Amino acid sequence: MSHYENKPIEMFVNYPYLNRPTIEHTQRREQLDSISRLISVGLRYHIPLDKLIEQLEKSKGSMKGTVAQISNVLKEFASRSDDPYTELCHSCNDGNMVFQGGCATCDKCGHSECG
Ligand SMILES: [Zn+2]
Repeated sequence: MSHYENKPIEMFVNYPYLNRPTIEHTQRREQLDSISRLISVGLRYHIPLDKLIEQLEKSKGSMKGTVAQISNVLKEFASRSDDPYTELCHSCNDGNMVFQGGCATCDKCGHSECG
């Protein structure tokens, strides 16, 4: 997990390489790689961490241990500060950026990061 100013911005999942990987092993690597890429892009576009955790929690049962572990790492970040994932609006410096209709939007002035 790489982070900037205590906010996670990128996530990598290390999964061991095998000399002769089975199809299952390769598929699992691909799945974990995809999950970490999707989480990373979500973090870069300011999807609130609790929303990501919420979704991971929903699929925990079907993906067994690994998703639960990823979820725990994200939760640890979420617990480091009271509310580190609330981003102040750059435009009015008063409202909070909330995710609306696929876009971070200010809840006070309506400023949107998608221009
Ligand atoms: Zn604003």
